Amino acid sequence: MTCDIKHYQMYIDGEFVNAESGETMSSVCPADGKIIATFPKGGQADVDKAVRAAKAAFETTDWGKTHASDNRGDLLRRIAVGIREKIDELAELEVLDSGKTITDVSLVDVHYAADCFEYYANLANQIYGEVIPVPGDVLDIAVREPLGVCAAIVAWNYPIMFAAWKIAPCLAAGNTIVYKPSSETSLSALALAKIIDEAGAPKGVVNIVTGPGGVIGKSLCEHPDVEKVSFTGSTEVGKQVMRMAASTMKKLTMELGGKSPNIIFDDFTNQEAAVGAALLGLYFNAGQTCVAGSRLYVHENIYDDFKKEIVRRVGLIPVGHGMDWNSRMGAIINESQMRSILDLIESGKKEGAKLLIGGNRLTEGDLAKGFFIAPTVFECDHDDYTIVKKEIFGPVLCLMKFKDEQEVITRANNTIYGLASAVWTNDIKRAFRVSKALKAGQVWINQYLVLSNFAPHGGYKQSGFGKDLSKYAMDNYTQIKNIYIELCTDDSYISTFE
Ligand code: NAD
Repeated sequence: MTCDIKHYQMYIDGEFVNAESGETMSSVCPADGKIIATFPKGGQADVDKAVRAAKAAFETTDWGKTHASDNRGDLLRRIAVGIREKIDELAELEVLDSGKTITDVSLVDVHYAADCFEYYANLANQIYGEVIPVPGDVLDIAVREPLGVCAAIVAWNYPIMFAAWKIAPCLAAGNTIVYKPSSETSLSALALAKIIDEAGAPKGVVNIVTGPGGVIGKSLCEHPDVEKVSFTGSTEVGKQVMRMAASTMKKLTMELGGKSPNIIFDDFTNQEAAVGAALLGLYFNAGQTCVAGSRLYVHENIYDDFKKEIVRRVGLIPVGHGMDWNSRMGAIINESQMRSILDLIESGKKEGAKLLIGGNRLTEGDLAKGFFIAPTVFECDHDDYTIVKKEIFGPVLCLMKFKDEQEVITRANNTIYGLASAVWTNDIKRAFRVSKALKAGQVWINQYLVLSNFAPHGGYKQSGFGKDLSKYAMDNYTQIKNIYIELCTDDSYISTFE
């Protein structure tokens, strides 16, 4: 494990630079409190420089033109190769920066990021328009064009993956980008900048600016030369982003919070699988996952056995430093998030929810140096507890019993969020019926948490709008121009006003 303090730089206009102010921020490992690196604390001047570079790259080069689509695809393919060549390095950096586990990051996050660049490499020359049958002697064509300078502002919980989710489709569609990672986890994006540079990205096409959300994020949302903001973060900050972006009418993609229901019907026979997926769906990344299955609804006929098994297996989850290959659950991102989770746990206890296991900070031995919370399960006899309503973003599962299908649909939908959901049943008609009734952007049937680069990800209701991933993300990075071509050869077509 390397713990030397290294300084990372931002990537603006093809150069690795410090903040104009010279100020820096530190990255602290959430598992042991050690400072692992410093990076620039960017400001308004750095955003202006990055947007200028991105605008020049879009407006004065061929980058966004249709005939450059193969070049864009080739660049994305080379970035994928570059990521794969540095998997171990990137994984270690991500683990130390975020507190995630090495197992998850090296087997999932980094591969998935490389795959994402490759996926969009293959879509760069697949951007189609449409011929529209407008009446008359007319050829009407709707063409898809890039937007120009796009900004992406993201959360801290899947840093390298978010960089891929935002940068890859944005470039494939012919835009240029200013990317702002979370200040909590900026390092993998800055390491990715090296890979992007070595892959031969033209100057200004990709710019990565680090610093506080209230400064960098705000400047990007208000900047007159930014056409679009793709935001991943909390619903609360998402609303501020929408307000700021309104003044210049930016296009938006909003990937926001969630409180997702995971519903287990009694006809689902493989209970072991359902328990395993319920654990993965919540405790993966210590519950710091937007689509975490934090509300677990189990049918009354199987409830007691299910509860026993959940509690037994939660008690076996190894919690520890992310660099230990035996750890399945790592640290919480920082002290303030840990405190907020512990406060919500206290509210659960006070309001009368029954704590079945966990519910405390872990401080044994080296764990005391970091921000660890025991995997926690509450049994909730109704849905009005704060812990059932509020996104906790930590390893806290709310277990609830239900009687029938209509009741559980109503309860599952009784939330401001609509990000994800799951249904476990062997009855195909029920599976389809319930999935249609759930108000969420994602429904898993007999599965949880699996996201594919090929399939759209995004929410309903206050979980946001617009999609990351899949070909649908390309729609968010293009706009449609209608071209009407008059084909009539005599003068009869000429419209006059008098
Ligand atoms: P956050 O909303 O606090 O921050 C997200 C980003 O916004 C960060 O880069 C931050 O620096 C920036 N920011 C903060 N204040 C800003 C401002 N005033 N103007 C512009 N930008 C600002 O979220 P977080 O704590 O980093 O992440 C956790 C949240 O993100 C959870 O609610 C989670 O559900 C959500 N999330 C959603 C998805 C999804 O795909 N739907 C994925 C991951 C996380």
